[in-house]
Formats: sequence, structure tokens, C-alpha cells
Amino acid sequence: MASSAKSVVPAADLQSFTEYLRGCKRIVALLGAGISASSGLPTFRGAGGLWRSHDATSLATPEAFDETPGLVWQFYSYRRHMALQADPNKAHYALAELARRNEDFITLSQNVDGLSQRANHPVKQLHLLHGTLFNVKCTNFYCNYTEDNYTDPIVPALEIPKKSSGLNPSATDKTGEQASKAIGEALDDTSTEVDISDASNPIATVAREDLPQCPKCEDGLLRPGVVWFGEPLPEKTIRAVDKWIAAGPVDLCLVIGTSAKVFPAAGYVHEARSQGARVAVCNMDPNDTPGELHYGDWFFQGDAGVIVPEILKSVIGISD
Ligand SMILES: [Zn+2]
Repeated sequence: MASSAKSVVPAADLQSFTEYLRGCKRIVALLGAGISASSGLPTFRGAGGLWRSHDATSLATPEAFDETPGLVWQFYSYRRHMALQADPNKAHYALAELARRNEDFITLSQNVDGLSQRANHPVKQLHLLHGTLFNVKCTNFYCNYTEDNYTDPIVPALEIPKKSSGLNPSATDKTGEQASKAIGEALDDTSTEVDISDASNPIATVAREDLPQCPKCEDGLLRPGVVWFGEPLPEKTIRAVDKWIAAGPVDLCLVIGTSAKVFPAAGYVHEARSQGARVAVCNMDPNDTPGELHYGDWFFQGDAGVIVPEILKSVIGISD
């Protein structure tokens, strides 16, 4: 996008924000899907997100896993694969740098894609409200097995199928431009994979015994360590965040790539405000704000990967 190459932050807003930021001590950032969209990741969370013919939210439940663990694993294995193909962007790196320079800065992420971690965000200052795709845990009620796991695919049965061949016979009928495009795509690793998010591409049914199994109890299936609809948020994480917010005045709440309209995000913006925080929102959509903006808040419209490093530049140094 040509427009994202240059600054899109109005100078007056940038100046007032920068002046305020220099005096800030306790800062909380709230991250949502928008920051990962800057890395090209589909998020599937929220209304209207389809994976194959399924409303993605209908796959993100314990009931769906009980009924069709193979299908749910195919969805999550695909998301793990896509997340590993994506790279953290400048916003992830800028926030990681801010965390290194200010130990009173915490980040609450609703994202499960592991991009903040891969940008070396200090882990003690990163709270994952919805867990992560790269942790798995046993579904056996009596077993507490959990592990970090970045293996892709996590089991052979979940490997994304490849297109039958790089170049099909009809390539000879194509114009020169089409043929060279086909060759280029064949050389790019991911483009030889079948797009299994598209329901018109058939996928095999994966048998239960071919799904990830718990090595500890040798009885339960492993499942993705993400928070599904209807499940509580991770208790230890919530307690740590509540303790941090209660520990003193909060100077600034950064809301990045999330509308923060729903629990728990909305609640954290509210709590930060009640501790004195001014709020700065970075979002593509000007209507997507956490309720009413107050006097003294900021709204920065645009791509998080461009805006966030720019508004933090004065405290983290040049990130280009
Ligand atoms: Zn187990």
C-alpha cells in the first residue's frame, strides 16, 4: 500500500502524544487482531469469520472439539501454520522495545499467534488473555499435562496437502505472463499448498487416533492451549493483571488493533481510566473505538505496523 509508506499521523496529535508519553511511567497496552493483520494474518475471531464453510467461532468451543476433534484440529493446525509463516511487524518490535526500556509497561494481548513472543517481547511483561496456539494441553479432566509446541504440523495427519504438481499440463496453453506467474508461484513454498481454508478444496477426515495424544496419561487427546468460547480466561494471568492495575495510578492505556468493546478488553480500558489513564487508540476503522473517547484521548487511524513505531519513536529510538 502506497499510503502506508509515509506517516499518516497528524503532526499536532503526534506532538501532544509524544510530550505526554515522555512523562508516562505506568503504561498498559491492549492488543487485538489488528496488529496481527499488519503481518498479513487472518484472525477468524469475531463475527463473519469463515473457515471453510464453518463460522470460525463455532469451531472455537469445547463442544466442537468433543464432537469433531479432527476438524477443530485441522482449523488450529492451519492457524499455527499461517502464524509461523507470518513475521512479527514493526509494531510488535516497538512494543517489545518499550517493554525493555520501561519495566512498568505491560501488554495484554488477545492474540494467540505468538508474534509478540517472536518479536522477543519480555515474557514477564506480556499477558496472554486468550492463551496461545503454541501451547497444547491434555483434555483428560484428571491430567494436567501441558507443553509448548512449535512443531508444524504437530502430527503428520495434520500436514497441509500440496497441490498435485507445480505445473499442470495446461500450463502450455497459457500466455507467457500466466506461465511465468505459475512458475513463480510453484517456487514459493506456501503457494504449492492447497488452501484448506477454502471449502471448495476437499480435505481428508482425520481419525481420532491420528490426532495429538497426551504422552503423560496416554489416554486424553491434546488440544490447543487457547481460550475457547464459554471458557474462563487464564486465572493466573488475570490475577497478575488485576494486581498490576491496582498497584498504582496508570498513566496511559494504548489500545491497538482492537475495538475493546467486549469483555475483558473493555473492562481493562475502563479500569485503566479509573486509575487515571489517558487512552490512545490505534485502529484502521475510526468507528472502532472502546466506547466514547474522552477529552485528552488520542485516536490514530491506520495500520498498526506503521503507527505504533511512529508514536513510540521518541522513547524507543528509531526503529527503521
Ligand atoms: Zn493427559
